[in-house]
Amino acid sequence: MKIVKILVKSIALHSALSFHLTIVGTALALFPSVTYAQSAEPFAAPALVPESATPSNAQLAAPQIERRVNDLLKQMTLEEKLGQLVQYNDAGFEAPPENGQLAPGKNPEARNRVDSMQLAASGRVGSMLNTVGKDHTNAFQHAAVEKSRLHIPLLFGADILHGYRTIYPIPLGLAATFDPDLAASLSRISAEEATTAGVRWFYSPMVDISRDPRWGRTQEGAGEDAYLGASMARAYIRGYQGDNLSNRASVAASVKHFAAYGAAEAGREYNTTDMSLSRLQQFYLPPYKAAAEAGAATFMSAFNALNGVPSTANSFLLQTVLRDSWRFNGFVVSDYTAVMELRNHGIARDAASAARKALLAGVDVDMMSHYYDSELPALVKSGSVPMSVIDESVRRVLRVKFALGLFEHPYADGAEVTAAVPEHRPIVRKAAEESLVLLRNQPIDGKPVLPIAKAAARIALIGPLSDAGSEMIGVWGGSEKNSDTVTLKDALEARARQTGGSVDYEKGTEITGESESGFAAAVDAARKADAVVLALGESSEMSGEAGSRSKLDLPGNQEKLLEAVAATGRPIVLLVFSGRPLVLDWAAQHIPAIIEAWFPGTEAGSAIANVLYGDVAPSGKLPMSFPRTVGQEPFYYNQFPTGRPNWTTEVTPPQGPDARFVSKYLDVPNDALFPFGFGLSYTEFAYSNIKLSASSIPVPEAQSKGARKLVTATATVKNTGGRAATEIVQCYIRNVGASLEQPVRSLEGFSRISLQPGESKQVSFDLGFPELSFYNNAGKAVIEATHYTVWIGGSSLATEHADFDIAP
Ligand code: BGC
Repeated sequence: MKIVKILVKSIALHSALSFHLTIVGTALALFPSVTYAQSAEPFAAPALVPESATPSNAQLAAPQIERRVNDLLKQMTLEEKLGQLVQYNDAGFEAPPENGQLAPGKNPEARNRVDSMQLAASGRVGSMLNTVGKDHTNAFQHAAVEKSRLHIPLLFGADILHGYRTIYPIPLGLAATFDPDLAASLSRISAEEATTAGVRWFYSPMVDISRDPRWGRTQEGAGEDAYLGASMARAYIRGYQGDNLSNRASVAASVKHFAAYGAAEAGREYNTTDMSLSRLQQFYLPPYKAAAEAGAATFMSAFNALNGVPSTANSFLLQTVLRDSWRFNGFVVSDYTAVMELRNHGIARDAASAARKALLAGVDVDMMSHYYDSELPALVKSGSVPMSVIDESVRRVLRVKFALGLFEHPYADGAEVTAAVPEHRPIVRKAAEESLVLLRNQPIDGKPVLPIAKAAARIALIGPLSDAGSEMIGVWGGSEKNSDTVTLKDALEARARQTGGSVDYEKGTEITGESESGFAAAVDAARKADAVVLALGESSEMSGEAGSRSKLDLPGNQEKLLEAVAATGRPIVLLVFSGRPLVLDWAAQHIPAIIEAWFPGTEAGSAIANVLYGDVAPSGKLPMSFPRTVGQEPFYYNQFPTGRPNWTTEVTPPQGPDARFVSKYLDVPNDALFPFGFGLSYTEFAYSNIKLSASSIPVPEAQSKGARKLVTATATVKNTGGRAATEIVQCYIRNVGASLEQPVRSLEGFSRISLQPGESKQVSFDLGFPELSFYNNAGKAVIEATHYTVWIGGSSLATEHADFDIAP
């Protein structure tokens, strides 16, 4: 099972980390209430506290739950309390040796091996990770519920990010659908499947904004934009948690990785992040905030440090922002061994201080470090950690367990889902179809290469991703079975059987191959074909955790294979499978048709074939900019302006293309190869007649935070081509004249519409305080008397616009 595979990988990686004893200061104070003081101005707590005091998850605040929590808490010993605050996998734990090195995978000095079943039976573990399967989870649950003194059920959590058995596209691909309702339905089916295996907690959604595709975990999130990210985050929570957590098909979400993990410097995994408060609030926090407001039951703290304070010991994030400002009332789990890693970060000299700092900052549950159970008893005894802090963390955990109804229904008892569910395939296929982004479709002999003509009887299918079932699934592919996956080869051959056509399949090379021995056969197949489909890209493991890359081109010698096949002059469709934007500069100049396919999931082949043959018109739009070269990274569309804009964007004063002293590279244009929000269709859409409901709004009216609809922007969208299709209409704004620079454009709305050939529709976007405000340097959302431009169009390069003022 992939979950196990990933876990092993994860342990090995965590173990490989080096350990530094450099102490850079112990600025954290003792209690959460006073730890704000460590955050210098402008991280002042009050500015971040909203007027409303409603807890983000009303279910967790129910009085009947609170009563049960308090009754139980009164009966618990310290050891039992700490049990609720630790999490292990089914392998148990090995205590690290005294010298404090991180526990290596094979540690000769390891001692004190403790079996998880024993821990469960003695109430010394509260939750387990990546322990899945009905029999397996039930066995541990029986130990906890029947043998432990207080019969407190375990909570089983797993990394299920885009499906359990029936797998839909990786989250980055799903974001390309700009279809949150679909994401909510898919999240629901993954919850329905996984709960049959005892899992009631998903380490998902991953909502880290990533503006740098070198970072491998880019694939787990919704890309570079906060508005899209927040929309998808809400959808995941809605799907996972449903109307009621106690529904046995609901799972508690764990929103990860809090916070700003996606801003890891240089795109290098686990690296530090450093940014202003306004950047954090405007571009990185919105998806986490949206998830909290949607009622997420748990959060996971991130591995990275933010502005010098590791997220796992960061009371500004975990207390000031998450609990005080957003009123989050669930629990926070650390990331894998992240409490232990506070020592590597150099802010804890030993295990005791790591445990103390993490707990006091607001990390309730220690995932796999074995520090809370080993260190907290002495810390409580010495008074370094007050019992009230322990009690509060235990309360938060118990609230979630009660809300999930685990005390009433601890066991998985229905029919276990052990394979892809046939009834779930259609929606998973639809998601895969919607996730495909058509990047290029040039005509050859006057006709676009796509869709493939019905008369094209002989297809050459070339490339290492043509018949790679496991690769279609992505690195966090739940517990899929490879045999459930439809590969492109399967799907194209099935069509050929129906139509009397044929498919000549040649692998050509391996994903990271260097040998050209397969090139000749691939070229030969292409020469004889009516249409050539090349399936190239990354392996799924080249992204995801610890999947950072410094180069973003097609791996191995795949581009050479592409060049060799292109030299045949046959009509070529390039399908790119990847967990991130790749550099496709050569292909964009030489290959007539290109589709970004991400990792589409169980129905990969069927969905791609439907789009290739035109049964479905592509509608996906890029959730991340595709750069021309890796040297442009971090590249994102919503950049801040400079004082020396490049001539291709704005010319103030006009300087022309040869101007030297402007913000540009000498060797590559500034713009994206394929911009954010971009994606072609098999038809064309025209935008016109953009109108605003007001040309001026007085500041006091605009500053009313409840204002959801200050101005409505409307445009006409017409399908000017010859076939029915779906368009993702996007609304961007720019705000000029504010006290802080604002991005050259920001997405503030999108809408999926379907249009018949020749049909027009009016599309409207309400812009209110959330869309028009920005965060100032004191951490406050404000609207100032400024000038706004609103664009409506089919990508971040939309040209139709109208303007209004917020008047003083
Ligand atoms: C990852 C998390 C994951 C956890 C548990 C960590 O290495 O960063 O995203 O949820 O392991 O598997």
